[in-house]
Amino acid sequence: NRPARLHRTFVQTGHWDSKQMQIRVMQWNVLAQALGEGMDSFVKCPLDALNWPERKYLILEEILTHKPDILCLQEVDHYFDMFQPILASLGYQSSFCPKPWSPCLDVENNNGPDGCALFFNHKRFQLINTTNLRLSAMMLKTNQVAIVATLRCHATGRAFCVAVTHLKARSGWEVLRSAQGSDLLLNLRNIAQSVGTEENSDVPLIVCGDFNAEPTEDVYRNFATSSLGLDSAYKHLSTDGKTEPPYTSWKIRPSGESCHTLDYVWYSHTAFHVHAVLDFPTAEQIGPNRLPSYNYPSDHFSLVCDLCFKDLKPV
Ligand code: NDP
Ligand code: CA
Repeated sequence: NRPARLHRTFVQTGHWDSKQMQIRVMQWNVLAQALGEGMDSFVKCPLDALNWPERKYLILEEILTHKPDILCLQEVDHYFDMFQPILASLGYQSSFCPKPWSPCLDVENNNGPDGCALFFNHKRFQLINTTNLRLSAMMLKTNQVAIVATLRCHATGRAFCVAVTHLKARSGWEVLRSAQGSDLLLNLRNIAQSVGTEENSDVPLIVCGDFNAEPTEDVYRNFATSSLGLDSAYKHLSTDGKTEPPYTSWKIRPSGESCHTLDYVWYSHTAFHVHAVLDFPTAEQIGPNRLPSYNYPSDHFSLVCDLCFKDLKPV
């Protein structure tokens, strides 16, 4: 019996223009297989629904339904045996950055460390450079990582940087998250500047991540107000255009229901328009047992948006 898929639709923003060339970006914490089965205690999710041989097809289906040009993933613990080979056969080039002390390694029969992975459509973009970062906080190396890739669009010649990260989880760690975010901003500024000098122009940024932080946290404020000129794409889903969605992750643990906005797609607002964002299923569609479930393979929803360079002539 094939479970019903959660229905989601693209919401077009005021900047929508069918003739503009769009860059579709997907941000998704896919839920590490070892954590889902071994550590997360999703008490309302049947273990059956987390069975990897089946769950991997739901993850692939989510990706292939939306066919992103750029795909930023967290909690990838099946890079070498699943994501990399399958997505390479579909035209994606990629990099992987494992966490130095992945909690997956504490799970019996684990498949290796989880980490961030970045995929891009190599028919559309050329890779100029990739940097794997271990994020620091207060001068100390932490267990959180990021990948920053510089890409050039074949059709337009435009270069831009795209980053993926997964910041420290859990409440009580707000100060660490904020320091990790500041370290990422510093690294992004340095990388964008060095590319920008070669390019003779400012290099736009796209930063995707599971920030593990609500919009009220310092790390969010630091990204929203940094000198890099970043804005959060999913605010375009709200009616006032200024509000983040009510949830990007929704699960039930022994401690109770956990419904939070933790995932973001940041973009340089001087360089890009947001054309469309994929909405989220309603509470009713998600169902009383929340995520993950037989119909959705992760406890985080994917964020998908179409960006477009502001100053390009329609094609
Ligand atoms: P984090 O606190 O960032 O969380 C790790 C993962 O746990 C995340 O993917 C997170 O998912 C998930 N998670 C969040 N909340 C809960 C919860 N309440 N219950 C279960 N899982 C949750 O981990 P760190 O990277 O700081 O690593 C901590 C762990 O790593 C330690 O517990 C230890 O197992 C291991 N470790 C081992 C070391 C060693 O020497 N062997 C050294 C350091 C760490 P999400 O982001 O989706 O919320
Ligand atoms: Ca998780």
